[in-house]
Amino acid sequence: MCPSDSPAAVPARHGRWILAALAGITVIVVGLAVLTVELDRQGRRASASAAARLLSGALAQGLGAYLDRIDLELRDLADARLNPPGQHWSQALVERHRRHLPGVITVELLDAAGRPVPGARAGAALAPERDAVVQAFFAELRDVPGTALVLSSPLWDGASGQRVVLAGRRLTRPDGAFAGVVRAVLPAQGLVERFLPDSVPPGLHVSLLNQRVEFLARRPAVAAVQGGAISTAASAPLRALIERGAEESSYRAVSQLDGQSRIAFLRRAAGHPLYFSVGIAEETFLDAWRSELARVAVVVVAFLLLVGLVLSAWRQRGRALAALAEAHRAAHAQADRFDRVLRGANDGWWDWDLLRDEVEYSPRWWEMLGEPAETRRGSSLLWRDRVHPDDRARVEAELAAAWAGDAATLRSEFRLRHLSGRSLPVLARSLLQRDAAGRVVRMSGTITDLSSIRAVEARLRAMFDLSPLGCCLCDGDGRIRDANPALLALLGGDRAGTVGRRLPELVPQPGAGGEEGAQAARLAAEGRFGPYESLLPLADGRTVPVRLRGVRLAATDEADGAGEGETIYTLVEDVGAQRAMLRALEERTRELARSNADLEQFAYVASHDLREPLRMVSSFLGLLERRHGEGFDDEARQFIAFAKDGAQRMDRLILDLLDFSRIGREDLALAPVRLRAAIAQAAANLAVGLEESGARLEIEPGLDAVTVRGDAGQLASLFQNLIGNAIKYRSPERPPLVTLSARRVEGGWQVSVADNGIGIEPDYYERIFRLFQRLHSRERYDGTGIGLALCKKIVERHGGRIWVESRPGEGSRFLFILPAPGGG
Ligand code: ADP
Repeated sequence: MCPSDSPAAVPARHGRWILAALAGITVIVVGLAVLTVELDRQGRRASASAAARLLSGALAQGLGAYLDRIDLELRDLADARLNPPGQHWSQALVERHRRHLPGVITVELLDAAGRPVPGARAGAALAPERDAVVQAFFAELRDVPGTALVLSSPLWDGASGQRVVLAGRRLTRPDGAFAGVVRAVLPAQGLVERFLPDSVPPGLHVSLLNQRVEFLARRPAVAAVQGGAISTAASAPLRALIERGAEESSYRAVSQLDGQSRIAFLRRAAGHPLYFSVGIAEETFLDAWRSELARVAVVVVAFLLLVGLVLSAWRQRGRALAALAEAHRAAHAQADRFDRVLRGANDGWWDWDLLRDEVEYSPRWWEMLGEPAETRRGSSLLWRDRVHPDDRARVEAELAAAWAGDAATLRSEFRLRHLSGRSLPVLARSLLQRDAAGRVVRMSGTITDLSSIRAVEARLRAMFDLSPLGCCLCDGDGRIRDANPALLALLGGDRAGTVGRRLPELVPQPGAGGEEGAQAARLAAEGRFGPYESLLPLADGRTVPVRLRGVRLAATDEADGAGEGETIYTLVEDVGAQRAMLRALEERTRELARSNADLEQFAYVASHDLREPLRMVSSFLGLLERRHGEGFDDEARQFIAFAKDGAQRMDRLILDLLDFSRIGREDLALAPVRLRAAIAQAAANLAVGLEESGARLEIEPGLDAVTVRGDAGQLASLFQNLIGNAIKYRSPERPPLVTLSARRVEGGWQVSVADNGIGIEPDYYERIFRLFQRLHSRERYDGTGIGLALCKKIVERHGGRIWVESRPGEGSRFLFILPAPGGG
């Protein structure tokens, strides 16, 4: 399954969008709620304001008409007073006028001095008449000629026990003189109450004020009064409006009286300097608004709770999906791991339900059989059929025994028949599951292809069997588990008689003394021992010296008990046979050395003794020439000369041979030798030859410091031969140049003697170092063919080697290695 299919993936992809949509909806809902509430508040305020306006209009109109009517009545009275028809003027007239004015307390006339005109009053007298307000009212009417109705400030009327306002007209004679006052006493509160409708909106406040911004009356009524005036100041906006002379205006203010905030409307009574302020406390309409707000808030909170619930459910679902995805991933990983482990192990598996005889086989199992996918059917008949016929009976028997017993596991090795016909060695390991009665109801296990293991085993077996050394596998006590033919041959028994036998000598035993004890300790510490020598008892009772070495192989500790314990692999070398061979070799070497010495002795003696007769031949030839030379003809003299020359050459040959045999016989006088000194010695011996040939000897400066371990005389002789040859085999085309150098190599110094002579063909590089081997005729280059053989012998006796490199026609380079004094 692909990871993108996991159940949490798709919601996780869309989750962000859904969350964003949810957040958007929440914002819209809350916004709408706020908007609704705000609009509601504004609406309520607007309707409160409209109600105040309407009411103020009704009040102003009512009051205006009422005052007009009072004015009319008072004017009538005034007219009656000024133009008395005599009989017209009477108490009854005043009474009648008062009756026309509902709510008016008193109607009366005052004379020009302010005194009540007797008999001209209807209603109770004002008390006290001497009030400042009353005085001021009178004074205003007297002093300010005019035709309008004049209203006083409010005053307290002790007679009626209420706050009253005076409304009056001036009595002006036709000549314009002041003739008194006609006035009406009006109850101040009545001016308000009279015009209010029966039911007023809750929270309604109505105030009546005059031009001087004095409160005449108020609804609801105010208890605290001081004299006639309501002891409070108008709010600043109200005062400003009245002082400005505004006819009507809405305003908002905080009442000085009760501290309430109000939506109010001010309106002037039509045609009169009185003002109604109608206010509605914000609290009143806000109360309703607040309960509306609470309802909306409840709805919003409920909505938010719902959103929260949805979110939390969503989060829980997300978490559950994540957990599910994690579980899904873990299960997937587990299955994948299991699959990879088994594939890595290259094992097959099966699961066999015995009750239903249904077997589930893994793909690898089918592969082992070579079974194509379309014919794969699982039942136990299948594997029974596919077990190799030779193994079938055994496997069935093992199975039956496991079922009958109480084993929890079964391990079985057998061969399977592959569809191609070849057989496949396998190891089947199974786990048995039993019911309460102990019957096996299920078997599951793995099947391992053993082909490659078997191939390796076969190879190891071949090496084991063919090894010329004795090999065996033992346990720690030396009990033999397996032995190869070489060991069987050495021990002198057959396999059946040897396997199972205990030969403690094959494994060093702890507690043994000496070398064996030490090797046993090493085996314990390092897991290996040897080589060390021991004596092995043979089947016939003899013993044979052997060299043993061995290693401990790790115990195979298999869970199903098929492992082996500690195993020691021991190699046995028959040192008896080796020793016999060594002894024979040593004997042979000794004999060779002896015969070599004899030969060298013989060569020396022969050479030495040969010189004596040779000298006789030479001296008698000389004598013959001296005594009878004159009688000889030329031919005879030539013969004698040939004979003498031959004798001389023979002498040289014998001397060279003597040198050669001496090198072999004499012991080396080994000491540190400076090569420069040996070369100087050789050059001195060759002084004549060097001079005659005009040869140049170039010695590289590095050579000065080189010291080797050797025999000074022999090394001088070595250089003398090589430098001598370099001069002898010079090229006729150029003056000879001999170059000597040395460089450090492993094990000593490599010395080079190079010339620019005639050179040597590669075919002869070996040959020239053999005795008497020459490449040229004596006529061309004189010599005996011993020089380089002597050089080889000297170098080899010093433990080194010598060889040549050359380019024919250009020169040769003789190289040899001599050990350095310290050996390194
Ligand atoms: P010989 O007495 O003939 O010099 P050696 O043993 O010294 O005997 O040399 C063997 C042969 O090796 C010589 O005959 C010669 O042909 C060849 N030879 C030795 N040294 C040189 C050299 N430096 N250059 C060329 N050839 C050489």
